[in-house]
Order: sequence, then C-alpha cells, then structure tokens
Amino acid sequence: MRAIVDESRCSGCEACVGLCPTDAISIKEGVAKIMGPFCKGCGFCIEDCGEEAIRVLEDVF
Ligand code: SF4
Ligand code: SF4
Repeated sequence: MRAIVDESRCSGCEACVGLCPTDAISIKEGVAKIMGPFCKGCGFCIEDCGEEAIRVLEDVF
C-alpha cells in the first residue's frame, strides 16, 4: 500500500506533513509530494486532509 496525492485537489496546507511517521511527505511547488520508497501505506496522512487529496492505494508494483 502507498499513498498518492491528487495534486489538483491539494492546497499545500502542510497538514499531512507532520502526520507521517516516516517523513515521506514534503511540500514542493505548493503541493504535497510523497516519496514512494518511504511510504508504508499507514494512511495517517489522510486524516487531516480537508481537501480529500490523499488516497492510499494497493501498490501494484
Ligand atoms: S500513508 Fe503513512 S507513510 Fe505513507 S505518506 Fe501517508 S502517513 Fe506517510
Ligand atoms: S493535507 Fe491534503 S491539502 Fe494539505 S498539503 Fe496534505 S495533501 Fe495537500
């Protein structure tokens, strides 16, 4: 499982950044970017996203 960001919804509010236990999220050019190798798919980052911009998907790779 890993998280993905819908950049068209993300406001860059940074609420998700501090929730990630593996520091996988950073804000670049105003939107959240998730560094795939660090994401464990825990879903904590979804909780405070008011824009519903993050989803956790099954990793197909
Ligand atoms: S799913 Fe978990 S590990 Fe992945 S970016 Fe969100 S908080 Fe971080
Ligand atoms: S909490 Fe949601 S809207 Fe805010 S930066 Fe993270 S993904 Fe974007």
